[in-house]
Amino acid sequence: DPSLPLLDVRGVTVRFGGITALDGVSFAIARGAITGLIGPNGAGKTTLFNCLSRLYVPTEGSILFEGTPLEQSPAHRIAALGIGRTFQNLALFRTMSVRDNVMVGGHCRTGSGFLANALRLPAVRREEHRLSDQAERLMALLDLQDVAQRPVSDLPFGTAKRVEFARALMSEPKLLLLDEPAGGLNHEEVDGLRQLLRRIQSELRLTILLVEHHMNLVMRVSDQVVALDFGRKIADGTPAEVQAHPDVVRAYLGAE
Ligand code: ATP
Repeated sequence: DPSLPLLDVRGVTVRFGGITALDGVSFAIARGAITGLIGPNGAGKTTLFNCLSRLYVPTEGSILFEGTPLEQSPAHRIAALGIGRTFQNLALFRTMSVRDNVMVGGHCRTGSGFLANALRLPAVRREEHRLSDQAERLMALLDLQDVAQRPVSDLPFGTAKRVEFARALMSEPKLLLLDEPAGGLNHEEVDGLRQLLRRIQSELRLTILLVEHHMNLVMRVSDQVVALDFGRKIADGTPAEVQAHPDVVRAYLGAE
């Protein structure tokens, strides 16, 4: 049902012993939107991301992805459901080429077991062809064709980040979770990232949720912004609404 939100977070609470990292957080994100998740250090952003990629199960509440509770799926099925993510620190194979790193992302989704694959080689060859075409398309989209053969260790940080993007996109996610994509990027690279996010949103019709401390990027690229503070949702709306919200101003300025 395309009118349903792609993701529906309902009353999610996460406790670690005595610490309440998330406290009854609810919000929904529409298909095709870019949503920014903001909040000061310790607000609960990473904890929420870890629930969305099913590394944690909420203590209370539920997360519906296309209407189905995530808690019902095991963690290793998350990519197959259509949720992809990148990490705060690059998680690439540094000595491998850009192309090989990107190809690894395609095998996350299909993983039907080595033996099963060996028994139907023609189908596997077709699948490899399809993945390799897709890798070429994504490398072109992310402007990586010229460095496809180079090892990741040769690349500037901003370029390596695009490799991580391409790899996450290989599993054809419906929802892409980006953990601080602007972290460590210079001013020009952040500008390039903003254009890139818009490009992949429109060309791949992707829904994106990003955790980001770079306010200028979040406010310029997002359709919707959700703000957390001390585990609670304090604002949810358009960038202009959230930026002007008194609780958000207070959370960031640390005023009484
Ligand atoms: P930052 O912007 O610094 O990354 P954040 O918004 O991502 O912060 P979280 O990392 O989600 O915040 O942390 C929320 C709260 O939960 C913090 O008080 C943190 O100490 C606590 N917390 C997070 N993970 C755990 C854990 N595995 N065990 C115990 N406490 C945790």
